[in-house]
Amino acid sequence: MQPIQMVDLRTQYHHIKDEVDKAVIDVLESSAFINGKPVTDFSEQLASYLGVRHVIPCANGTDALQIAMMALGLQPGDEVITPSFTYVATTEVVALLRLTPVFVEVEPDTFCMDPAKLEAAITPRTRAIVPVHLYGHAVNMEPVLDIARRHNLYVVEDTAQAIGGSYTFQDGTRKMLGTMGHIGCTSFFPSKNLGCYGDGGAMFTNDDELARKMRMIANHGQSVRYYHDMVGCNSRLDTLQAAILKIKLPKLDEYNEARIAAANRYDQLFAGHPKITTPYRAPYARHVFHQYTLKLEDVDRDGLVQHLASQGIPSMIYYPVPVHRQKMFESFGGAAFELPVTDWLTERVVSLPMHTELTEEQQAFIAGQVLDFINSH
Ligand SMILES: *Cc1c(COP(=O)(O)O)cnc(C)c1O
Repeated sequence: MQPIQMVDLRTQYHHIKDEVDKAVIDVLESSAFINGKPVTDFSEQLASYLGVRHVIPCANGTDALQIAMMALGLQPGDEVITPSFTYVATTEVVALLRLTPVFVEVEPDTFCMDPAKLEAAITPRTRAIVPVHLYGHAVNMEPVLDIARRHNLYVVEDTAQAIGGSYTFQDGTRKMLGTMGHIGCTSFFPSKNLGCYGDGGAMFTNDDELARKMRMIANHGQSVRYYHDMVGCNSRLDTLQAAILKIKLPKLDEYNEARIAAANRYDQLFAGHPKITTPYRAPYARHVFHQYTLKLEDVDRDGLVQHLASQGIPSMIYYPVPVHRQKMFESFGGAAFELPVTDWLTERVVSLPMHTELTEEQQAFIAGQVLDFINSH
């Protein structure tokens, strides 16, 4: 059996090595390292895959969120609603732009923003909502979009963990995650479902004006070369990374299918255990399993993580401290938010190895070790 990794990028690379190596050498030979043709090619390819008018590439997923919020023209003190049960980047950019983060509760089954709790978090200063499609599962977008429309709020989707996932509306319309709000943001960090071999990110929108603004902001606020209309930043997707992503994007559906198949196998291995809840999949969501995350009841979680490590099995707690309890947000009154579901989940979740190369043999071993520990403690 191959050693078990949380994410196995090396084996995945070996399956596409010839294509990738050639594409990398082509970029080296062209020496168009910045804004080379693969960058535009990949952006167009991704726009067509997602069914969205504009894809604006940038340097990473955190920049994507920041540029999105800058393009919306939000002013210091404006309130932005985000979940606390997320990766810190979602909320960090809100604070960085001197906007005010307002934390909202998540649903205990989907781990995603709870639309039923959203309206109570809205004040006259609220300007935007940031739903995060966590672990690859869709936020229940239809009620979120309804509320946003009624209150005249922007919606910025954080799709860093869910590219290729989708959401189905009541009327049967299916949309790709990241294409339903005003702007969608994603990350191509290597371990994400569509990962490059370094940092990368992108914004998506159907709005021509927002697209124009985001392109400008990502390029020093420049409209014409050396004419700068607004304060921006420097955030680009490298040509090398775009060339790699061009090869990986056509395989994204296949990669996500491999994750879903692995999740199905885990589900069977853990089925019916009284102390283990396997991931929920809402009927509206195509879950693309960025993470496979169990909820444990009455289990010594630290003991389990240690036991697995002793057997050569990595596991992770995403995330050990919810964002509203991070020191970073002390001065924003983070801890004053009462988010019992978020706190409850933080104490119970554990994520198991999940990637495109996971074998049945590895999964049987992982599940066997999890069950051994839980059944004997
Ligand atoms: C990874 C991630 C980001 C940030 O992406 P980077 O490319 O690492 O900057 C933002 N939000 C979520 C939910 C993420 O998982």
